[in-house]
Amino acid sequence: MEKEECLFCKIIKKEIPSEMLYEDDKVIVIKDISPQAPIHVIIIPKQHIADLNCLKQDESPIIGHIYMVAKKIVQTLGIAENGYRIVSNCGEQGGQTVQHIHFHLLGGRMLKWPPG
Ligand code: AMP
Ligand code: ZN
Repeated sequence: MEKEECLFCKIIKKEIPSEMLYEDDKVIVIKDISPQAPIHVIIIPKQHIADLNCLKQDESPIIGHIYMVAKKIVQTLGIAENGYRIVSNCGEQGGQTVQHIHFHLLGGRMLKWPPG
């Protein structure tokens, strides 16, 4: 998919509304439209990278940044102590439905393992 047609690129450009919890020059954090836990947000890099398979070496610092943002957000959301899960689905069998790399942050309930 071209980035012009990408749902998350449109959300980043604010062409499609979202409930944004955090934004900086590299990422946004939005509430998932179909939450799977009491807290379910998605951390999305502003750069259009389709999935992990497409991530280039020089783009890799964004992954560390995403985790540092997650660390901040879990404090804000009050789930740092009780625990949470960060997951990134990749490809058809991984359950990826939006072809712009992103990280789900889930918490607020006891999460099951393994996921379905
Ligand atoms: P994935 O299925 O791992 O690619 O994750 C895509 C996520 O985006 C799903 O959890 C969807 O519920 C979520 N989603 C789809 N459209 C929107 C939207 N307009 N705003 C917020 N989240 C969305
Ligand atoms: Zn995109």
